[in-house]
Amino acid sequence: MENKVITVTSPLLPSLDDFIPYLQDIWNRKWLTNNGHYHQELEKALCEYLKVPYISLFTNGTLPLMCALQALRITGEVITTPYSFVATTHSLWWNGIKPVFVDIDPVTCNIDPEKIESAITPKTTAIMPVHVYGKPCDTERIQEIADKYGLKVIYDAAHAFGVEINGRSILNEGDMSTLSFHATKVYNTIEGGALICQDEKAKQRIDYLKNFGFAGETTIVAPGINGKMDEVRAAYGLLNLKLVDVAIETRRQVAVKYREALANVDGIKFMEDMPGVRHNYSYFPIFVDAEKYGMTRDELYFKMKERNVLGRRYFYPLISEFSTYRGLESANPANLPVAHEVADSVICLPMYCGLSRKEITKILQCVLK
Ligand SMILES: *Cc1c(COP(=O)(O)O)cnc(C)c1O
Repeated sequence: MENKVITVTSPLLPSLDDFIPYLQDIWNRKWLTNNGHYHQELEKALCEYLKVPYISLFTNGTLPLMCALQALRITGEVITTPYSFVATTHSLWWNGIKPVFVDIDPVTCNIDPEKIESAITPKTTAIMPVHVYGKPCDTERIQEIADKYGLKVIYDAAHAFGVEINGRSILNEGDMSTLSFHATKVYNTIEGGALICQDEKAKQRIDYLKNFGFAGETTIVAPGINGKMDEVRAAYGLLNLKLVDVAIETRRQVAVKYREALANVDGIKFMEDMPGVRHNYSYFPIFVDAEKYGMTRDELYFKMKERNVLGRRYFYPLISEFSTYRGLESANPANLPVAHEVADSVICLPMYCGLSRKEITKILQCVLK
């Protein structure tokens, strides 16, 4: 047991016994996909849980990003952050849109709204920010800029399941928000995702787009794609939805223990809760100041690995460093100093709801020397 590997995450799984009757029912119905019974049930349940007016389920969290861009007819250039998972920028690339990277805020790790305006050109049509680690972006300031310049806002909210400010979901900000229900996320449907929108017409258009553009038996209204979630994963999602509140509370308790233990460690910083925000504790990033800590981020990362504690350098490298994007003018490191500093100092500690007290101690011992 001593040497059991502690992974950075572990999926929230419903009990198999609870799942089997759902499978039996799906087998009886013989309706496996295309807006089936459980698909409809999960959309209803998620609208209620997330406090959003309209949701459209997808087979992963990348296709809703791509469909949001199609639904809003985004073209030209889109302002986004290099400090995210590659899918954010890839969705732009797949739509033939030029990503324009803007630096991040050192406290929230989200796009710095004060740096957006100077990146706007006549070709800019939208802003695609990310609520990194589920920490809300400065949505008010971003909306102000979008309104001033007539831009759309699409939030990649893959990390922000269930995050609220003063009881209001942050998923209702901007024109549309997307979620990922990948196995590694706070709430998962194995693979899965969703697109949240604010009116019925947008929901209708998204539902067409994720089903090849079919608006009727013989009518195709757009060059859609296949992004549909199937019945098995929708049923699984209904079961996991019942567990997610407890999972988030357990994660919160892990975060509290981490913070208590690391509060006085020289050269290690971490994120605090924000007032009025219901966080989901999706990740626990620490930021290593090599000089003060006496060890570089990578030295700590590999030391943890040697002791079978797997952290993750998330997000490193920056998206702007990958071959597809590094030739862009906005990918120049001189344009993104904060993002580079954060990417070079971050390690996400293991965070999931099954972490035992012993495992937490072992993880902390690595960081505490
Ligand atoms: C996980 C993730 C995605 C992609 O989701 P998939 O479900 O894996 O396709 C997109 N953006 C961010 C920020 C993510 O973390």
